Formats: sequence, C-alpha cells, structure tokens
Amino acid sequence: MNNSPETVFSKIIRREIPATIVYEDDLALAFRDIHPQAPVHILVIPKQVIPTIAEATEQDQQLLGHLLLVAKQVAKQENLDQGYRLVINCGNDGGQTVYHLHIHILGGRSMQWPPG
Ligand code: 5GP
Repeated sequence: MNNSPETVFSKIIRREIPATIVYEDDLALAFRDIHPQAPVHILVIPKQVIPTIAEATEQDQQLLGHLLLVAKQVAKQENLDQGYRLVINCGNDGGQTVYHLHIHILGGRSMQWPPG
C-alpha cells in the first residue's frame, strides 16, 4: 500500500510532469485541468500537501484564505466576467480522485444546479 502523501500534483509542482501553469507564488500553484469540464477549468492547489479539506486545521487558515484569493485572481485573469464556480471535492462521496487539496475553477459556460 502506498502511504505517501504525494500525488501527481506534487510532480506538477516539481515540474516532473508537464502542466499548463497559469499562476504560481510561494504557497500556491494553478494549472489547467487535463480533462476540462468547462471551457475554463483550472485547479488551484497549495504547494504544501493537505490531502483533503477534511484534514485542514486551524493552522491552515491563512493558506486556505490565500487559495480562495488566488482562485478569484485567476478567474479575473481568465476574463470570467460573467461568473464562475469554485468547487472542492472531499473524499469518496465528494468525488475526489486526487488526494491533494484543490479548488476547481470552472467557467466559460452557464453552470447547472444541483451538480449531481
Ligand atoms: P477531483 O476529482 O479530485 O476533485 O479532481 C481531480 C482533477 O485533477 C480532475 O479534474 C482531473 O481531471 C485532474 N487531473 C488528474 N490528473 C491530472 C494531471 O496529471 N494533470 C492535470 N493537469 N490535471 C489532472
């Protein structure tokens, strides 16, 4: 069994596998999703591994706020002036497939609700 907290996203941070990176700072990285579900589909991740939002702690408060501000900045950079959706999937029922916390930015089309 693989107990390493590392996922494919750690490899993207280290540039070991390619990704279209649209934003980077000391704490966060944003890159285009490999299987886009909307005309704009970008993932914002912390460089520090937090597997799921359920495992975030009080100590992560500033980092989590930072990720949201990065998401809105990237949405602006992508000209999503008509709006967009931010999504965090958590665990099995949440549909999470990569266990490195990420915020999906989805935009460029009208979203449906409920999401399914
Ligand atoms: P989750 O289902 O965990 O919320 O979202 C994981 C997302 O990561 C999916 O939308 C999936 O398409 C994306 N993804 C998985 N592997 C890669 C990869 O190697 N590169 C990129 N750019 N996106 C990936």
